[in-house]
Amino acid sequence: MAGDNQLILEKVCKQYGRDIVAVENFTQSFDASSYVCLLGPSGCGKTTTLRMIAGHETVSSGDITLDGVSICKLPPAKRGTAMMFQSYALFPHLTVRDNVAFSLKMKKVDKAERHRKADELLDMVDMQGFADRLPEQLSGGQQQRVALARALITEPAILLLDEPLSALDPFLRIRMRSELARLQKKLGITFIHVTHSQDEALALADTIVLMNDARIEQSGSPHQVFNAPQTEFVARFMGGHNVLDMEGNKFALRTDKTRVLPAAAGTQQNTSWQQHKTGIVSYVEYLGRSVELTVSGDDFADVTASLTDEEFNLAPCQPGDSVGIGWNENDLHALS
Ligand code: ATP
Repeated sequence: MAGDNQLILEKVCKQYGRDIVAVENFTQSFDASSYVCLLGPSGCGKTTTLRMIAGHETVSSGDITLDGVSICKLPPAKRGTAMMFQSYALFPHLTVRDNVAFSLKMKKVDKAERHRKADELLDMVDMQGFADRLPEQLSGGQQQRVALARALITEPAILLLDEPLSALDPFLRIRMRSELARLQKKLGITFIHVTHSQDEALALADTIVLMNDARIEQSGSPHQVFNAPQTEFVARFMGGHNVLDMEGNKFALRTDKTRVLPAAAGTQQNTSWQQHKTGIVSYVEYLGRSVELTVSGDDFADVTASLTDEEFNLAPCQPGDSVGIGWNENDLHALS
């Protein structure tokens, strides 16, 4: 299944009617064998982008190429892509084995061969004991595995996944997330996974493509997107950042790099960080491994500091306390 499968979207636009621009000037190269997450808020154009790659939606302008050859005009089954839908879309009246084998039946592969191949795929997703069941006799996580096996039986160069984990409970979502990551590395094919969950994208992706309002806002490794957000939208959407306004310039500062100290300790001139503001603690939230303090002041928007519980316990504070806020200049990222 692996190979040089470089997918490139070049200035891809999708317009519905005269007024709705769902995707605008989307240019991105998807490295072969990489795990890419299309991330962004509801309505930003993620699913439309995925559907254009799959061939379930036409492009209004621009081009989509796989290994230099335009696939825009090809029907879905000829593109080398396979799609796994949010609802899994399993056929309720077919057994698990027949669901997985379905596309081979369409290709007129004989029964023995398509069942052999379906069983091989079911084995891969650890569902070998369930081949004769109907979808309604499976849990959500099991249905998801069957849907994966069904998508992979066509040996796609690229697997497209539309919110594949959203129907699962939080515990199962994390388990299936690691299974997806393992499967992608094992198969060595490109996975393009649509999600609106920052955690999911950070955990899974080699590359995050973060969309906002039909456009790519930033793309890069999880570390780049989280640690060096280029815009205020990225800093706020990825979370874990304060956006500081300093004489008209905006800067992102990670909440876990934001320092607080009780005002009674006096102004801190530390070698690694300096106190820059003073304020009043307005909210303290205990999150288990960390404690988040929100600090309000007259001349700045609320700032959040995320402390380890150890740091917090060294100098505990509560709403109403005066505190200083500080940071290391190197931890500030200018936003455009
Ligand atoms: P979500 O996370 O909610 O699924 P999304 O990022 O996947 O959102 P899309 O489904 O790609 O967003 O939709 C992008 C925009 O295009 C939205 O404003 C949506 O209303 C619009 N849109 C999508 N499909 C159509 C359609 N068939 N006709 C008209 N507008 C559409």
